[in-house]
Amino acid sequence: MENKKIIIGNQKMYMSIGEVSEFLKGITGKNLGSNIVICPSSIYIPYFLKHRYCVGIQNISFDDKRQYTGEISAKQASDTGIKYALVGHSERRLYFNEDNELINKKVIALLQNNIIPILCIGETIEEKNLLKTNRVLKNDIVSCLKNISSDDLEKIIIAYEPIWAIGTNRIPTMSEIKSNVNYIKDLINKIFKKDVRVVYGGSVNSNNINKLNKIDNLDGFLIGGSSTKSEEFLKIIEVVVNQ
Ligand code: PEP
Repeated sequence: MENKKIIIGNQKMYMSIGEVSEFLKGITGKNLGSNIVICPSSIYIPYFLKHRYCVGIQNISFDDKRQYTGEISAKQASDTGIKYALVGHSERRLYFNEDNELINKKVIALLQNNIIPILCIGETIEEKNLLKTNRVLKNDIVSCLKNISSDDLEKIIIAYEPIWAIGTNRIPTMSEIKSNVNYIKDLINKIFKKDVRVVYGGSVNSNNINKLNKIDNLDGFLIGGSSTKSEEFLKIIEVVVNQ
């Protein structure tokens, strides 16, 4: 298992072609290592691959054999040179009705095609207030990782993303993050007898990264909005890599 912290930028559908070009200019010559993963809109992926950045895809189809207009299969992604994929992001669960059964199929398709799944799990604010966070995390882990072998488990990254913290500028306390990440790691260790990497995502920015990066059980960060401006993204990387 890699021991360097991983930083994943989820640029969602935020950027125009001009903004992508500005972003690429901003990171030129910065020698981002293989632990910095950029997930642009799929249509922009070739620009990032051309410059040899480590690229993740924001979504893939669960199946590569059917006639699915508009979808991208894990095989196509893998053949193109994509190394990572987001799966189970709360926006896909909410707006595209993706459930744990479908997410499990996507995790399996990714593993079969040598792409590292970044499996996003996390609670809503209502679930948090009803003290259901552990129950939600357990249900997501058990269902999304059904039929995954212990060996494959080591390839997966879990992104702990409290849904209420995504794009809101609100983050949990450091001790809440630490204890929820411990819960995820302990549970996975109990089920698979293996360690898993867990990153935190939700309103990470250059102002809060110093304190977030001090949480000692985190293996990195998943960054949405703050990954779309090269200066801001590079500031975050600098703290994580050098602190
Ligand atoms: C995300 O969408 O995965 C995310 C972490 O977004 P943001 O950083 O904007 O909260």
